[in-house]
Amino acid sequence: MQTSMLINGQLVAGEGASQAVLDPASGNTLVDIAEASEAQVDAAVRAAHSAFPGWAQTAPKDRALALLKLADTLDAHAPELAKLESDNCGKPLQAALNDELPAIADVFRFFAGAARCLGGSAAGEYLPGHTSMIRRDPVGVVASIAPWNYPLMMLAWKVAPALAAGNTVVLKPSELTPLTALRLGELAQGIFPPGVLNLVFGRGATVGTPLVQHPKVRMVSLTGSIATGSGIIAGTAGQVKRLHMELGGKAPVIIFDDADIDAAVEGIRTFGYYNAGQDCTAACRIYAHQAIYERFVEKLGAAVATLKHGPQGDDSTELGPLVSAAHRDRVAAFVERALAQPHIRLVTGGKAIAGGGFFFEPTVLADVRQDDEAVRREIFGPVVTVTAFSDEDQVLEWANDSDYGLASSLWTADVGRAHRLSARLQYGCTWVNTHFMLVSEMPHGGQKHSGYGKDMSIYGLEDYTCVRHVMFKH
Ligand code: NAD
Repeated sequence: MQTSMLINGQLVAGEGASQAVLDPASGNTLVDIAEASEAQVDAAVRAAHSAFPGWAQTAPKDRALALLKLADTLDAHAPELAKLESDNCGKPLQAALNDELPAIADVFRFFAGAARCLGGSAAGEYLPGHTSMIRRDPVGVVASIAPWNYPLMMLAWKVAPALAAGNTVVLKPSELTPLTALRLGELAQGIFPPGVLNLVFGRGATVGTPLVQHPKVRMVSLTGSIATGSGIIAGTAGQVKRLHMELGGKAPVIIFDDADIDAAVEGIRTFGYYNAGQDCTAACRIYAHQAIYERFVEKLGAAVATLKHGPQGDDSTELGPLVSAAHRDRVAAFVERALAQPHIRLVTGGKAIAGGGFFFEPTVLADVRQDDEAVRREIFGPVVTVTAFSDEDQVLEWANDSDYGLASSLWTADVGRAHRLSARLQYGCTWVNTHFMLVSEMPHGGQKHSGYGKDMSIYGLEDYTCVRHVMFKH
């Protein structure tokens, strides 16, 4: 198993404390890996800093060729990478192989093309006797910090636009799920010049903090929790770094009485529980119209109860475990507190699954109210709440009454209503009659406490550039 970090084009073992990396489906240790020391974090940032001028001036078509080569390499190693991801996250192997790996390679291919077609205002003589032009230049060294829920996909969302735009990168995967990132480091070793892409392993406090606070890091891109995001914002404020924050979510899902109820039930069974609900866009906060409420709750409970949990390699497994014992206990505590409220009804699930591994039953909580903790806070597990609403104004107010602003969906047969509400929902994305679907060409990112900056799309590429004005006196 590849456990070395990539620093300045070399694979090097960490010199810090050792961390156990687990298989969440069994709780067994897969491997122990030593973290980066502070000196190694410094070496990685310095390598990225030294590589920056050369990479920034590499022609976009040549940066694109390197990204395309990495995409081809990912395709060639897809079964191996999917197995590693599945072992380390507990995800069903088929989901990692068929859903995630092709989408990851596509992100690198999209940004390879996008690197060659950055747009901007027309050059012109906006002051007589002077020509002005716009440049979009790279920012510098980017520190990228990834979460554990989609380790390789989040790496792709961060690394591909940053490198495409001509930046150099030091990426830290989550200490819980570093295996695919470390293997990618080895695969990428000969593709990029030394120092262009660096990978360091370790925890937030010991490795993340010195990385994001390093004076030569000009931009920090985080996908993670709101607490980590606001800590990084506060901790780097004195250095005025560029920040890109993809934080938590609590997606409202509005189901009107004219919606196709079976399609909505099937959608929530899939998109509320995909990746065991450990998804920032998970369809977890349902508002169902009172005219169909009871029928909907009954159908949803029956459908969710059929979700099959199990080991990664079993083709019939739909639901993997939670990432850690601590996270499973956190999810269980949310559900316990919810069920201590007399008005909340347990429709299905509700508890951890005994045995090895960190599994939790797929859970539906009904009759939940707008002010309940289960509606207001991100649970990040296989737990969906359902609340009845009476009219459009009320549900719009409830949907927007949230600290989060990442993703939302509404289910209706009324096109006018779909447009009306889409225009008023305060979320980075609104899906109509579906949920969760992402494409490399379209942006993903939040509002409010869900953060700012976009992943994927040309907007994502622009986030990793500085807009500059150059003026020529004739
Ligand atoms: P987390 O915030 O605990 O950790 C994220 C990363 O930050 C990890 O690599 C961690 O080591 C690092 N980190 C922690 N403290 C740090 C510090 N002080 N300085 C630098 N780095 C530090 O989040 P998580 O538990 O790994 O992931 C779950 C969270 O991520 C959820 O809130 C979820 O909604 C969010 N998420 C958001 C998106 C999105 O696109 N908006 C996508 C996936 C996950």
